[in-house]
Amino acid sequence: MQTLESLQVWCKKKNLPNYRAKQIYQAITKNLISNWSEALELPKDWHEILNKEIPISTLRVKKILPDEGAINRAPTDANTIKIAFQTHDDLIIETVLMRHDRDRNTVCVSTQVGCAMNCAFCATGKLGFTRNLSAEEIVDQVLEFARLLNATRCRTPGYSPMSDIGIMPSKVTNIVFMGMGEPFLNYENVIEAIKILNDKDGFNLGHRHMTISTSGIVPGILKFADEDIQTNLAISLHASNNKLRSKLMPVNKKYPLEKLLPAVSLYMKKTNRKVFFEYILFAGINDSRESTEELVALMKTYFPNQMQLVHINLIGYNPIGSGAPLPTGLEIEKFESPSKETIKKVADTLQKNSILVTIRYHFGGEINAACGQLGSK
Ligand code: SAH
Ligand code: SF4
Repeated sequence: MQTLESLQVWCKKKNLPNYRAKQIYQAITKNLISNWSEALELPKDWHEILNKEIPISTLRVKKILPDEGAINRAPTDANTIKIAFQTHDDLIIETVLMRHDRDRNTVCVSTQVGCAMNCAFCATGKLGFTRNLSAEEIVDQVLEFARLLNATRCRTPGYSPMSDIGIMPSKVTNIVFMGMGEPFLNYENVIEAIKILNDKDGFNLGHRHMTISTSGIVPGILKFADEDIQTNLAISLHASNNKLRSKLMPVNKKYPLEKLLPAVSLYMKKTNRKVFFEYILFAGINDSRESTEELVALMKTYFPNQMQLVHINLIGYNPIGSGAPLPTGLEIEKFESPSKETIKKVADTLQKNSILVTIRYHFGGEINAACGQLGSK
């Protein structure tokens, strides 16, 4: 897609009235056309020039996993769909759709090609950093899934072949900035993408349906606290002390817990919004009773009067295959997810301490589309 501003410039150059720019913009972001011949509100003889000069997307679909037809299967049969996109400069990025049911479709978008943060447990981190994605490239990942969903004729549970009920197009209902890359190291483009996706005259998705996840870039958190947007914030915490967190996430050396958590507290104070703490559980590393108690104490120390705004999401570690060298000094041989029972125990302990907690359901492992697996194949 192109921004409304750049389309206005284009229309001016072509001597077209200004309102045409908005029609072109809305054809892509609101009507979700996949070809200019579908834009019936525009003169037919423009289609050719639009096809040539205004590409519908900045990205090319390279591969859809598990397969092209997955989108037309019921969400229960194909709950995760991954697209590998090719950029104009021949780079590959990945985007994931998670279908919770017909009414909730979450797109997990990438914000960078690769990532510089080098977290020990993450496949994207192994790729290193190549470049930031533009706001248009971020938006186009969402629009591609929106077009696919818009064209679906999937059967919902209880569907009867004798009626049309249940054959309905679906929509993107949520966006999480949790794909490849660190959103707060591509701050301006991510915020611009959020504004485009929120535009009432365009895609029109509410801020509250979007979530940015950061590994803990303090200046980004502070800046975000002053934005006039109500997008949710998630912090990838994963450890309750600096020693372990620095081993798992090198970013902790620059922004240790005593810098990170006060910044989060300030964000809460300014916005009065809940913050989601993503917490990967690794067997034998951070899943013991003592570790959980340390986590409780950490939260109570930094958020004494803000505990109602703390929400912890527990995630079992998703395997990223071989090639994940473990940080030194961990005294274990490999990263593994604890059992369901252990994860439940951690959740219970947090809950007993009046901390809001959710065990995050594991999506997409079979097509390497789960958290941390993007870019692994
Ligand atoms: N860079 C940002 C957002 C993208 S990562 C961040 O780190 O927050 C999205 C989430 O997936 C983060 O919470 C990240 O820590 C988590 N993640 C990475 N690798 C994972 C793995 N192997 N298993 C489970 N979660 C993982
Ligand atoms: Fe980057 Fe997030 Fe992966 Fe860390 S977890 S390497 S910050 S994408």
